[in-house]
Amino acid sequence: MFCNIVAKTEPADILYEDEEVMVFRNKLTWVPVMLLCIPKNHMTQAKLWTDPILAHVGKIAAYLAAEHCEEGFRILSNFGRHGLQSQEHGHLHMIGGVNLGSYA
Ligand SMILES: [Zn+2]
Repeated sequence: MFCNIVAKTEPADILYEDEEVMVFRNKLTWVPVMLLCIPKNHMTQAKLWTDPILAHVGKIAAYLAAEHCEEGFRILSNFGRHGLQSQEHGHLHMIGGVNLGSYA
């Protein structure tokens, strides 16, 4: 649960943290670099994408992704069951470290 990671009651490999935003490694490893960027305050994916905090979350996500994926990357959010969203807490995925074209 992402709120537990924010509260530091659940371990995570945290790469960045400020007052409002946190970046940590995804437990999934489909591609070499899979990072997650979240607002620390709990909000749904829909709320995140309509809240002014998205500008800050997106800026940090793009910065950290560029640091870890020199040759490029992808940033995305999954919405709902068909989007394969597995955490209610809103978040951005930063994925890369490989040519994503070879992963369809
Ligand atoms: Zn949460």
